[in-house]
Amino acid sequence: QLWCLKLQGTRILLPNMSTPAEAVQTARKAFASGVTRSYDFRMKQIKALLRMVEENEAKLVDAIVKDVRKPKFEAVGYEIESVKKALKNIISNLENWMKPQEPGKPKAFINDEVIIQPEPYGVVLIIGAWNYPILLTLDPFTGAIAAGNTVILKPSEIAPHSAKILADLIPKYLAPDCYQVVNGGIPETTKLLAERFDYIFYTGSSSVGKIVHQAASKFLTPVTLELGGKSPVYVDETADLDLTAARILFGRLANAGQSCIAPDYVLCRREIQSKLVAACKKVIDKWYGGNVKTNPDYGRIVNENHFRRVVKLLEGAKIAIGGAHDVSDLYIEPTILEDVQPTHPVMQEEIFGPILPLITIKDAREAVDFINEREKPLALYVFSTDKQVQDLFLKNTSSGNMVVNDSFIHISCDTFMFGGVGNSGMGGYHGKYSFDTFSHMKGTLIKKLNRLGEYANLARYPPFSEKKLNF
Ligand code: NAD
Repeated sequence: QLWCLKLQGTRILLPNMSTPAEAVQTARKAFASGVTRSYDFRMKQIKALLRMVEENEAKLVDAIVKDVRKPKFEAVGYEIESVKKALKNIISNLENWMKPQEPGKPKAFINDEVIIQPEPYGVVLIIGAWNYPILLTLDPFTGAIAAGNTVILKPSEIAPHSAKILADLIPKYLAPDCYQVVNGGIPETTKLLAERFDYIFYTGSSSVGKIVHQAASKFLTPVTLELGGKSPVYVDETADLDLTAARILFGRLANAGQSCIAPDYVLCRREIQSKLVAACKKVIDKWYGGNVKTNPDYGRIVNENHFRRVVKLLEGAKIAIGGAHDVSDLYIEPTILEDVQPTHPVMQEEIFGPILPLITIKDAREAVDFINEREKPLALYVFSTDKQVQDLFLKNTSSGNMVVNDSFIHISCDTFMFGGVGNSGMGGYHGKYSFDTFSHMKGTLIKKLNRLGEYANLARYPPFSEKKLNF
């Protein structure tokens, strides 16, 4: 059977792929054999995956660049290196992570063993998104392997070169019955979701996240949903605006704005707005030397549909910087909008492009209210050196993650969980959390079966009495 991925004239044939149902059957059989449970097997697979990434780095980068047209630096730095870092972290720590944890003993269990034994869920489905097509499939994959699951990977069909190279390489390096790639679009994903999994890890939009959640609920399958939304930025007068502009634009312009944690809009006082626009102008000129379009360090929009959607958001907006676009090259200039009204279309959906609206507010408290009146964001960015202001946002808003005085970069801080809350997702991963996410943490009580301990148990056996209640 030949599977065909088609996008904007690109036709990619994927030979010999099993159907979603066959793939799940194979994965289930492999899991039931117990082969993925041992430390040695997991470690061998993790090392093989690292070898796969290292030996094929150029091909993987090439696929990313063809699919998303991001600068090679971003493909290497944000995708390949992050996957390698995750794998190396697992290699250093897996033995420890797999050990039963000892959470402490309540008084009543002082003579017993109280442990938390991590165990694999079983067959895991990982559905990836197109904007970081290698990172968003392989990064969760590392955690699922480390935790001892068998895995079916479903890369995004919107990044067909990356989807194909993963389908080509993974069976060559890893145990093919344990780790499979199923490629295809919405029909294949829908078929996959009709199958029973033991865990589903989804990255993509909130609207499809709801479809995945609903499908999972049929079998009460636990899920992690890595979704998106509008991540706000607050800037106040205590912030150095040159640094602030650079740090906001770093997150906004990476991958031409197509990042789930890109700063989506800025809330600031009117006096700050014009200064911030001037600072952004300086940064853009410095980074791209006056001609962004020909600069190789600036990316493109993934396809025409997304291009048209993003450009439409500019209608009726007051453009302070940029605004140029070219459909033939899927190019949109870095664009700053000022005096944006909360009712404008650009404020009704996640932008996912290189546009940054500035909205004026009275003070930090109004910014907090503005954020709280909307869906909970994936990330919240506060630029202020005033500790009280930092605390105001920290304690009075809810977001997946929060960063003070920077944007985007927290994705590489793997000692906390990366993930959303509410409409921006549930659960998370990175570092040890990737292992934990794909493990059921089985609380286990181990008692001795001897007569000496039985005296205390008499209190819970019938016949009952008032006296026993107070025991
Ligand atoms: P996408 O179109 O690539 O979709 C993601 C996956 O969902 C794909 O594998 C696709 O096949 C599948 N899919 C699409 N429609 C489906 C349907 N109707 N039924 C079943 N499966 C379906 O990516 P996208 O959704 O456009 O991704 C962009 C969104 O993802 C943005 O909202 C972004 O913020 C979010 N995102 C979140 C993270 C994160 O880590 N939280 C990372 C990247 C992107």
